[in-house]
This record gives sequence, structure tokens and C-alpha cells, in this order.
Amino acid sequence: MADGMKITVLTLFPEIIKGFFESSIMAKAVTKGLIEYELIDFREFTTDKHRTCDDYPYGGGAGMVLKAEPIARALDSLNLEGARVLFPSPSGPLFTQKKAREFAAEEHIVLLCGRYEGVDQRIIDEYIDDEVSIGDYVISSGEIASLVLIDGVYRLLDGVISSDSLEEESFEGGILEYPHYTRPEIFRDEGVPEVLLSGHHENIRKWRLRKGLEKTKRNRPDLLALRNFSDEVQEILKDLELADDKEG
Ligand code: SAM
Repeated sequence: MADGMKITVLTLFPEIIKGFFESSIMAKAVTKGLIEYELIDFREFTTDKHRTCDDYPYGGGAGMVLKAEPIARALDSLNLEGARVLFPSPSGPLFTQKKAREFAAEEHIVLLCGRYEGVDQRIIDEYIDDEVSIGDYVISSGEIASLVLIDGVYRLLDGVISSDSLEEESFEGGILEYPHYTRPEIFRDEGVPEVLLSGHHENIRKWRLRKGLEKTKRNRPDLLALRNFSDEVQEILKDLELADDKEG
């Protein structure tokens, strides 16, 4: 994992992105020098009096398309040597924890925020290393999608959050995370599972593994088909299968 990272965002609405870099854990990472960021408003790179960034699509059809020239000029003004240039787009491959780890190893990531129907394809062909989708749905702006990518990536950098927190998270072992509880011990007549109060670390580990597997089986059975799990995990899965058969 890289020790620090530069993040450049090209956007027509820098104010949407700015608040994220100035708040909470990201703000601390910036202060500590783990993250350096730069926000580029590519409207500043227009040359006409109306500062036009979009135009009608060739071939007709609904909506507008972001024009190539201002974006190209903005990108040409940057030092892109060694940078990974990302375009959040519903037509890219899905963003996953694995991708987040891959991007977290880069020294410099650049994100281009789309709007309207998207960006002139010639920009994608010439400058973009990866198109990345945040999910199988369409949102109205690349700013929110870029923030999802940035948030998924920067928290993996050394020194941003504790490595213990990262190790046990959903997807890390190929399964979803177990449920969490904190004080008070009784909330609206509901208690906390006894095992979590027992102080018995091995039993707690086993309970968490089983709960994580139960949740994965219920919510994301596709994840269970992707891996060769340990004997312990396979035993629990068999047991859950038997329990389902009995119930069903
Ligand atoms: N016409 C495009 C299509 O059908 O694929 C959708 C354009 S969308 C309204 C505007 C911008 O939002 C996109 O250019 C992209 O930057 C961003 N966006 C929308 N949905 C996204 C998703 N699922 N993943 C990543 N970016 C997305």
C-alpha cells in the first residue's frame, strides 16, 4: 500500500467535492500529509464567452454531452506521469474491494466527473485508464460516484485508519462482516448475545465467523461461490445448510 497519495478531481462542481476533503477522517489524512488533493474546475479551460462545457449529441437523441476541448485542456495542464486516470461511469466494470486495494497502491489518481449523458468518447479513448462503475444503477453525477471511489480507496492507505479495523471488514475474507453491539447492554428490552460478554476470545471469534457466514448466505450467496474456503468455514456452511433444510 502506498504511504501517501495525490488525488486530483476534474469537475464542474468543485464545491461538492471540497467538503469531503475538509471533513472528518479525510481532513485528518490531509493534515497528516497522507493525502494531497487538487480540484480542477474544467469550466476554467473554456475559451468561448459563454464558457460552454456541453453540447448536443451527434446523431441526435436526448440530453447533452460534455465537450472534449475544455476537459482535454484541463488534463493537458496536469502532470499525469505515473497517474491512474479514472472515469466513473455506469458502463465500466464494477468497483470492488479488490479494485479499491489496487487503486490504493497508486501514487496519484485522477478522477473525471461526468454529467448529463456523459463525456465525448474521444476523451475516454485518449486519457482514461479505467472506467469504473459504483453499481448497476444510474445517478446524475460523477461527483458523487468519484466520492464513493475516493472514500473506498483512501481509507486503505497506511496511517488513515487502524489496520485492525480493515482486516475484519466485509469482503476482506470473501464474506460479509458479523453484527456489532455496543453499550448499553439492554436496549428496549433487547440484550446483547451472551458470548460477546463472556470474554472468551475463541468463542467470540467462532460466533462472529458463523454470523458473518449466515449474513453472506442470506444477502450475498454469490460471494460464497467465488472462493475455496477453509475447512472450518465449510463445516459451518454445511451446518447452516442443514439448519435451512430442517426449517424449510
Ligand atoms: N447516459 C449515461 C448512461 O446511460 O450510461 C448516464 C450518464 S449519468 C446521468 C451522468 C454521470 O454520472 C456519468 O457520466 C458518470 O460520471 C456518473 N454516473 C452515473 N451513474 C454511475 C455509476 N453507476 N457509476 C459511476 N458513475 C456513474
